[in-house]
Amino acid sequence: MMAAPRLNIDLGKLHHNASCLVERLACRGISVTGVTKAALGSAEIAATMLRAGIGSLGDSRIENIEAMRNGQLVATMVLIRSPMLSQVDRVVRQVDVSFNTELEVIRKLSSAAQEADRVHGVVLMIELGDLREGIMPDDLLGTVREMLSLPNIRFKGVGTNLACRSGVCPDEKNMALLSELVTAIETTFGLTVEIVSGGNSANLQWALSGAKTGRVNDLRLGEAILLGRETLYRQPIDGLHTDAITLTAEVIEAKIKPSKPTGLIAQTAFGEMPAAIDRGPVRQSILAIGQQDTDPCGLLPTARTRVMGASSDHLILETDGEHQSVGKEVTFQMNYSALVRSMTSPFVAKVINASSGL
Ligand SMILES: *Cc1c(COP(=O)(O)O)cnc(C)c1O
Repeated sequence: MMAAPRLNIDLGKLHHNASCLVERLACRGISVTGVTKAALGSAEIAATMLRAGIGSLGDSRIENIEAMRNGQLVATMVLIRSPMLSQVDRVVRQVDVSFNTELEVIRKLSSAAQEADRVHGVVLMIELGDLREGIMPDDLLGTVREMLSLPNIRFKGVGTNLACRSGVCPDEKNMALLSELVTAIETTFGLTVEIVSGGNSANLQWALSGAKTGRVNDLRLGEAILLGRETLYRQPIDGLHTDAITLTAEVIEAKIKPSKPTGLIAQTAFGEMPAAIDRGPVRQSILAIGQQDTDPCGLLPTARTRVMGASSDHLILETDGEHQSVGKEVTFQMNYSALVRSMTSPFVAKVINASSGL
């Protein structure tokens, strides 16, 4: 029997997802940076992205980039979160380009790069309304001016990130502003901005809609490749697999139980106060998986099963149709939150299927 719980990772489906997106965006003059953070630096997943025509890999964690370097991957490695001051030495050694918003950090990168005798590339992130990372547009030219004077730092371009914090949609207006800012940098400093990274999986609708893409020539895609969904409305992307990575757990108890608990009701293990409604007896099973292994709210069961709740290591499932039995396995598609937590849990096996389509 295979280990449970486990993530089933289908490299053929991931390859299909990545190469579809690379092709569709190439028609719009946009290249893809493959975002690997949810894959925890898996060299197999990263290598699959590269085989699909992706040229650079982006990750928010230096640990993941170091793991991919150790996996002998040949690609431009991009740190897509501002480096911590405490990590600049590791960053200049292993990362080609980092995303930055603070001059204080870029100055430290410059000193570290001088010491390591390397040149470090910098992309400046611009705040365009979502209120996560980014330099305010009014401060951009001043920041570029200061940065251009720093030794061992190469200005590679600009980027922006929408949707993640506030759900702000990438649209013609904010994307046009990004292009205008690129032009302003070029005319002010007499240089060419090489990378214009317009955003993440939330930018796909805009990018493929036929809207003018302006100067945007790169998107950073994670979820769209791994889960086959756009991220504004979480709809499946045409022609892509939403089950390239699935999660399987094993049934350890299967009983008919009342739907209404007995006794006085206070808090559960995770502090909720569930509504106790009597729906009569139900087919309830327990899977050996829980909050320590995944985000139970992010599991997408099939039509006749429902996730009713979870504690650290028990997940409660109700089924309408055929009753589960002990030892049976149940497989779920996942949202991004469930994927990230399952990838990160040491209790979840990662089973890679490389046979299909490669
Ligand atoms: C995570 C992340 C991405 C990738 O986002 P997806 O929604 O997975 O495509 C892109 N850019 C930045 C800065 C990120 O942190």
